[in-house]
Amino acid sequence: MTADEDRTGRAALGAALADVRRRVATACAAAGRDPHEVRILLATKTVPAATVRLALEADAAARAADPTLPSVLVGENRVQELVVKGPDLADLAPTTHLIGPLQTNKVNAALRWASCVQSVASVDLATRLAARVDPARAPLDVLVQVNVSGEPTKNGVSPAEAAALADRVAALGSLRLAGFMTVGANSPDTVRIRDGYALLREIRDATLTAGHATARELSMGMSRDLEVAVAEGATMVRVGTAVFGARPTPVA
Ligand SMILES: *Cc1c(COP(=O)(O)O)cnc(C)c1O
Repeated sequence: MTADEDRTGRAALGAALADVRRRVATACAAAGRDPHEVRILLATKTVPAATVRLALEADAAARAADPTLPSVLVGENRVQELVVKGPDLADLAPTTHLIGPLQTNKVNAALRWASCVQSVASVDLATRLAARVDPARAPLDVLVQVNVSGEPTKNGVSPAEAAALADRVAALGSLRLAGFMTVGANSPDTVRIRDGYALLREIRDATLTAGHATARELSMGMSRDLEVAVAEGATMVRVGTAVFGARPTPVA
């Protein structure tokens, strides 16, 4: 990319990001929440590292203008993409989360680049992660992914299983149970989507009440439904399309 193209790209991404921030702020105002409680995670699947870099630079510029803004996070779905883009972005040191399913043979690669795994949906994966975390470093943040919609294509434990998995994760010394994640129902029915997010909040609240004080995060809401998620207490919204535009549709 030329310097001119970089400038144009950064400005467009900065404008899209500012728009997402405004949406979050409006939804927070409607819910009586402080917008600084809601982090924006850039869902960067299929987005090249050079474009992610421009978005992170746009975010840094926004924060230079308003130092109270929390920085955006980066979320990757596939370890393969983490491994390719991680080194390219290392100088910017973004906080990067894994938000897609993790195969057990890719745990080491994931741990190299992600400071949080949001997609823990089995005791088996939690145990394997715990075994590989370097004991010299801080515990790995983990979110338990819950399939609130019950759609069979979605990763995540059932709502009924969430508390038991959270207990198991919290008991693993090298993991820190940081909260819960869900992908909302793929539905035009806002009530159904909202019920799912409310359910995740109830699971989180019960977990806090049960004594897991670190389990505060609610990672829920995407480009099309982040307002609903913020209304139900999201602490992190994961946004791809609204910042980077439509992804190329995968060829079947
Ligand atoms: C792609 C993706 C997102 C972002 O979706 P958009 O609709 O593009 O905002 C959020 N979460 C997960 C797990 C994703 O895979």
